[in-house]
Amino acid sequence: MSDDFKPEHAAAFKRALELALSYRERSQEIPPRPTLPLADLRAAFDVGLPDEGRDPVEIIEALSAAAEPGLIGITSPHFFGWVMGASHPVGTAAEFLTAAWGQNAAVFQCSPSAAVAEEVAADWLLELMDLPRESAVGFTTGATMAGFICLSAARTEVLRHTDWDLEEFGLTGAPEVKVFLSEEAHATIHSALRYLGFGERQKVMIASDDQCRMRADDLAAKLPQHAGPKIIISQAGHINSGAFDDFAEICKLARDHKAWHHVDGAFGLWARAAPNLAQYCEGIDGADSWSVDGHKWLQVPYDSGFAIVKNADALKRAMDISASYITADADDGRNPTHYGPELSRRARGFAVWATIQALGRKGIEEMVARHTRCAQHLASRVSEEPGIGVLNDVAVNQVAIAFGDENDAPGVRDKYAQDVVAAVRQENTSYVGGAVWKGRQIVRVSIISRTTDERDIEQLADSLVRAWRKVRAAN
Ligand SMILES: *Cc1c(COP(=O)(O)O)cnc(C)c1O
Repeated sequence: MSDDFKPEHAAAFKRALELALSYRERSQEIPPRPTLPLADLRAAFDVGLPDEGRDPVEIIEALSAAAEPGLIGITSPHFFGWVMGASHPVGTAAEFLTAAWGQNAAVFQCSPSAAVAEEVAADWLLELMDLPRESAVGFTTGATMAGFICLSAARTEVLRHTDWDLEEFGLTGAPEVKVFLSEEAHATIHSALRYLGFGERQKVMIASDDQCRMRADDLAAKLPQHAGPKIIISQAGHINSGAFDDFAEICKLARDHKAWHHVDGAFGLWARAAPNLAQYCEGIDGADSWSVDGHKWLQVPYDSGFAIVKNADALKRAMDISASYITADADDGRNPTHYGPELSRRARGFAVWATIQALGRKGIEEMVARHTRCAQHLASRVSEEPGIGVLNDVAVNQVAIAFGDENDAPGVRDKYAQDVVAAVRQENTSYVGGAVWKGRQIVRVSIISRTTDERDIEQLADSLVRAWRKVRAAN
C-alpha cells in the first residue's frame, strides 16, 4: 500500500460504505421527515474547527451521526414531497467509484473515460427518449442549468439568423429577441432567462388552459405581433398537473414563425420512454432543444441533468471554452466543455451510464407506468372522501389535491390544505408538500420514488384521509 493512501484511509472508506449500506437498508422504516430540532442539528455539526487533522474513521462516524437525524427520506418509497428521484443504488455505487477516481470531466484530455462514458450515455438518452440522434447532450446539475444551457444556444442562434454575431457584439444593440412562454412556466425558466439577459419586457406570456397547458391558440395569436427573432418555451410535465403542451401544434407554429422551440421536460419527457404514455409527447422531437433531469424520474443520484440541443454547433458556439492550456488532439474524443458552462466538474456520466443499465429500457418503462397507475389509484382513493377533490386529470405521476367544498370560503379552503400538509408531516409515515394551483392552495403529491408501489399509496391515502378528518374536526 502506498504512503499517501494509509490503512486509516482504507478504514474510512470501509466505514463509509458500512454506514451507507446501513442507511439504505433502513430506508423503508426511516421517518421521511427529520424530527431533530434545528439547534440540536447545528450543535451536532458545530464541533469546532480543529487545529490538527482528526482520525479518518472518527470523522466519518461523526459525519454520519451528525447528518442522519437531519436527512429527508428522499430515498424512501414514502417520499412524495417534491418531484425528486430516489438515487438508484447502482448509480450511487457508481458515484462511490467516481469520487474515488477523483476525475475532472472538464475536457477529454483530463479524463478520457469520463468523456467516453458521457458520449455513450448521451446516445442512450437520445434513444430512450427518441429524440433526434444528431443532438448534442450536455451533462449538468439539473433542469435549471439544462434550461439555461439550451436557451443560451437558442439566443445565439436566433440572433445569428438576423446576422447579429452575439459572440462578437454581445447583447447591447442587438435586435430584440422575444421569448414566448406559458404563464404556467416553471420558476427556473424565468431564472434562466434572467441569467441570459432577458427581462420582463422580452417575455410574451401565453395563457394556459384548466390543466395548466399552454394554449396554442393564444400562442398563434401572439407570435405574428413580433417581427424580430423569437424563442418559444413549452413544457412536458407541468409541476402541479403533470400535463403536457400540444407539441405537434407548437412545433408547427415555431416552424411557421422561424422561432427556436425549447421544451422544459424536467421529469415529463420520461413519459416518452413508456409506450402507453408516449402519446403525450407526440411531435416533441420536432423541437430544437430539451431540458431533462437525470435525478428525477431516471433516479440518477444528485446532481444530474441533461441539456439536449439538436443543432450541436449552436450549442458549441454558445458554450465552448478556449484557453492556451486546454488542448485537443485530432484523435481526441468528445470534449465535455463544448456542451456546458463548466470547466472543472464531477464526472457525471459514470452514474448515468450505470443507472440506465441498472433499470434497462423495460425497467424505465415499468417504473414510469407504475407511478402513473399509483397516481390514478391515489386520485380515486382520496376522491371517495367527502370534502377532498382532485383538480388535475391525472396524466402521469402528479396529483393535485384540494380540500373543502363550495360552501367554504377560499381562505378557509387554503388553510385546510396547509393544515393537511402539516398533519401528514406530523404523522410522519409519508411526506407531502403544498403548492398553489391557479390561486388555490393544494396538497401536491409527486409519485416518483423508484420503488413506490400500490401498498405505499394505500398508506399515503390513509394518512391523507386521517389528516383531513382531523383538520375538519378541528375547524
Ligand atoms: C424540477 C423542475 C425544474 C428544475 O429542475 P432542477 O433539477 O431542480 O434544476 C424545471 N422545470 C420543471 C418542469 C421541473 O419539474
